[in-house]
Amino acid sequence: MTQASLDTRLDGVVGARTAKPLERAFEMRTVADLLHHFPRRYSRRGELTPLRGLPIGDQITVVAQVLDVRERRMQRRNGNLLEARITDGTGTLTLTFFNQQWRSRELVAGRRGIFAGKVSEYRGSLQLQHPEYELFENRDEAPGGEQLDEAAAKAWAETPVPIYPATAQLPSWTIQRAVELALDALGPVPDPLPGEIRDAEGVMAYGRALELIHRPQHDADWRGAQQSLRFREAFELQLALLDRRRRAGLESSTPRPLTTAAGAEPGSTPLGRFDAALPFELTGDQRLAGETISHELAQPHPMHRLLQGEVGSGKTLVALRAMLQVAASGGQSALLAPTEVLAAQHFRSITEALGPDLAAELNPVLLTGRMPAAERKRALLSLASGTCRIAVGTHALISDNVTFYDLGFIVVDEQHRFGVEQREALRRKGASPHVLAMTATPIPRTVALTAFGDLEVTTIRELPPGRQGIETFTVPELEMPNRAARVWARTAEDLASGRQVYVVCPAISAGEVDPELDGEEAGERARPLANVEDTVAELRRRPEYAGVQIEGLDGGMASDEKDRIMRGFAEGRIGILVATTVIEVGVNVPNASIMIVRDADRFGISQLHQLRGRVGRGEHPGLCLLMTTSEQGSVARERIEAVAATSDGFALAEVDLELRREGDILGTAQSGGRSTLKLLRVAEHGELISHARDVAAALLDRDPELATAPGLAELIAREHEAGLLDNLAKS
Ligand code: ADP
Ligand code: MG
Repeated sequence: MTQASLDTRLDGVVGARTAKPLERAFEMRTVADLLHHFPRRYSRRGELTPLRGLPIGDQITVVAQVLDVRERRMQRRNGNLLEARITDGTGTLTLTFFNQQWRSRELVAGRRGIFAGKVSEYRGSLQLQHPEYELFENRDEAPGGEQLDEAAAKAWAETPVPIYPATAQLPSWTIQRAVELALDALGPVPDPLPGEIRDAEGVMAYGRALELIHRPQHDADWRGAQQSLRFREAFELQLALLDRRRRAGLESSTPRPLTTAAGAEPGSTPLGRFDAALPFELTGDQRLAGETISHELAQPHPMHRLLQGEVGSGKTLVALRAMLQVAASGGQSALLAPTEVLAAQHFRSITEALGPDLAAELNPVLLTGRMPAAERKRALLSLASGTCRIAVGTHALISDNVTFYDLGFIVVDEQHRFGVEQREALRRKGASPHVLAMTATPIPRTVALTAFGDLEVTTIRELPPGRQGIETFTVPELEMPNRAARVWARTAEDLASGRQVYVVCPAISAGEVDPELDGEEAGERARPLANVEDTVAELRRRPEYAGVQIEGLDGGMASDEKDRIMRGFAEGRIGILVATTVIEVGVNVPNASIMIVRDADRFGISQLHQLRGRVGRGEHPGLCLLMTTSEQGSVARERIEAVAATSDGFALAEVDLELRREGDILGTAQSGGRSTLKLLRVAEHGELISHARDVAAALLDRDPELATAPGLAELIAREHEAGLLDNLAKS
């Protein structure tokens, strides 16, 4: 038999009967695909998996020992039920088989094996119906049947047994057997990683690492293999990202300098005139960001930069000033926003900030998916003819019928709402335009390195002066009903002094069942989520709000209706705006002073932080009240309390990462599914990622074309081709 390589198709190695389900379940086609399906964890034959707390409804794989077996006739149906109990030494789990008495011959008390199935509950005890299992060979006998000596028995008990991400059709041991066939057939594996990096980093040879992660003799084997393969993963990823960034930097693009005509007065350019009319000073960070961006726009290579800064830190202003620089030489800019509400608001505030003269000259237009046809046609025409220098819009900007005369600069607001493909699709409408991505969700450095590794990052930490700050309180409705009642009274006080209030709900109407509770559980704990419709009705009934206009807003409403309500709130006619998270990003009404979030436990940390950023934006201090019925000590409650405890978005981003760190529990976590990252967890392996990036950067500095590491060059080319990097950034 000829030796297999990593590229060999699976059916030739493991047989079509196994290859097909592997492809169906995990999209595996080659030996490499299979060998990169790493064990989720390792058990030992001598060590039983705790059976307590197995998650009902989940597909699980456990190592256990048969306790006893009994047969009984079914009362209602014709037939026999075989019930075998397995144990971890304390708890038990019942395996049930219908009309399969023959199994009592192999499921003998005392035998151990791996059992897999879906956990269900029957009369208070946990069971697996018709589970798959594989019994280990007898403890005292070698496979051939001879007696084992003491040392061999010990080895039998202690050898790690890999447990793979599995499905009901493909139990862990079937995958294990396929992996063993592949490893046996595999010839020498070429190692893409240069020897000097391997030596310096103490990384195992590639082929050896693959062998040991799947067929360890000792725990140290798989630990070492995992470490090595994790380094490779981090390194290859960073290398690909850095390579992409370097290549993007080599593209040529039209320079858009600050002043164009030689000797032109800086004060006569659009930016000069804008700055002269600006009613406030730029903050230090805005100035620095502005200088960096201005310099890059003037280069003959495209800028790829991420601008991150707290809500209200003045990012949009920085972006607008860059657009004005581009406009000086006739270039067009496009600002892509994730929602219609946000696009409309950007459009309004940009038009306003420009003032009548500049607005007439630069002719900003708004483009969204739901515009009247005539208006849309006019907008498209002005983009194509170049009379419009600033376009603001939603995804509609990306659609095929949109063409630009000279698109020089694109700004993507709330970058994490978009994928890299969308950014690239918009870029293709120009000749390598400059890119500024913006985000108000603070990103821990290691996440930024991975998710936005092809962008340079600028951070605005300073807020414009005069901000009054925001106080945040948790309102635990169950434990402190008085505080909950006080929420509405306090709100009435602010309304009476002319302020405005947001109330955010996780649902639109009472019909929406909490998606986190399924089936029966939802029926039992039926408490509809706080929702916009009911909240509007409830608040309108409250005597303390008599005379206050209260309106609801959600993403499903017609856009002119949404617009009407947003305008009513912006202009102060509407006192209380009850909304879903459509108002999460960017919405700016400085007169609003209170943000109430109902069922705050339904939102993530960064969402809550974003929401609270809607208040305290003007001269009035902000108040954020996070209402919840979650239990003290629950993770949901911890999230809320973290948000109440600090207003530092960067600190919160770290807490968020911490709380999201999933424990590797049995159950769902075990049943596969493909993810782009395999052994690497951004939350956990921050240091490794940073380090791998340094190693990758050093290699690219020495050898930008990777001439000395052709294996790596090929790997990167493949990653680019498969678009593997494109989905990392999308959250
Ligand atoms: P972001 O996009 O970062 O959320 P914006 O650019 O929308 O922030 O700015 C929020 C508000 O602060 C806007 O009303 C803007 O006009 C104002 N602003 C921006 N920069 C300054 C500054 N340097 N001084 C005072 N106000 C500012
Ligand atoms: Mg903004």
